[in-house]
Amino acid sequence: MKYVEITGLYKSFGDTFALENLNLSIEKGEIFGLLGPNGAGKSTTINILLSLLEKDRGNIKICNQELNKNNANIRAKLGIVPQDLAVFEDMTALENVMFFGSLYDLKGKELKEKSLKALEFVGLEDAKKLCKTFSGGMKRRLNIACGIVHEPELLILDEPTVGIDPQSRNHIMKSIKTLNKNGCTVIYTTHYMEEVEAICDNIAIMDKGKVIASGTKEALKEIITDKNKFEIMVNDITEINEKELTAIKGIDSVEFKGNKILVSIDREVNGLNEFILYLSNKAIKILDIQSKVLTLEDVFLNLTGRKLRD
Ligand code: ADP
Ligand code: MG
Repeated sequence: MKYVEITGLYKSFGDTFALENLNLSIEKGEIFGLLGPNGAGKSTTINILLSLLEKDRGNIKICNQELNKNNANIRAKLGIVPQDLAVFEDMTALENVMFFGSLYDLKGKELKEKSLKALEFVGLEDAKKLCKTFSGGMKRRLNIACGIVHEPELLILDEPTVGIDPQSRNHIMKSIKTLNKNGCTVIYTTHYMEEVEAICDNIAIMDKGKVIASGTKEALKEIITDKNKFEIMVNDITEINEKELTAIKGIDSVEFKGNKILVSIDREVNGLNEFILYLSNKAIKILDIQSKVLTLEDVFLNLTGRKLRD
């Protein structure tokens, strides 16, 4: 069953087209990844979905209901973990979570119990500590506790791991997996491809306000199965010219790391032969060749000619 369906969504800010004919379909029960570089339009999409921002045009259905200003019943089922921290520094962890719980009409004993449960879930046991004494990672986890206290059916997380320590990141990844196992549908936006590879069932890659590819990570990598990637170590790279190399048929992209060259090659055109020929013509010695595993970063590079992170 489709939980969220977005069709033909447009949004502009002045002269900037933030979303241009965006289409997305999210199944009930899945972890859906929205992967894209800064400025792709991820937050704009999320904010329209949450009715925090008005669309220019397009259609949004949640649970088969057209989203409009009147369906508070739908919004009560959604949980949000915003990109910018939305916690009160001078309140304790528990007070923060209880505040957000009360916005969803939780009261009394139930409010306190669910708030403590949410804090325990994200691994913040010290409920009585003031938020301002927390590390960045702990604040991020508190932000998540505030978003899940009312046990939403759909949890939307907008870049929840930016600028945090690996331990908090791992904890967040695990928590999301567990929430999902317990029945929560999740939309997860990020510009870290490792995260969507680790937890998402389906992924949409966004760029410049559009979905440029979508599917499982395996299906997305199928896009580039005719490609190979190699890391080639040479004795001297001073004579190697990037422009000359990429002008050769079958060589898609090159990147230099010390005396190593990362090269993406078209298998069908036999770009590897051409590459080796180029090196031998310049009397450059190959010290080592390693085949690299293709990643979603490679998919993005292949589709846009750019990297996910600049
Ligand atoms: P992402 O979350 O993927 O980084 P955003 O949705 O925040 O991307 O932004 C998409 C585009 O819309 C960017 O070009 C951004 O500069 C622009 N944008 C977003 N919000 C505003 C705003 N309130 N006013 C003007 N431009 C905006
Ligand atoms: Mg954003």
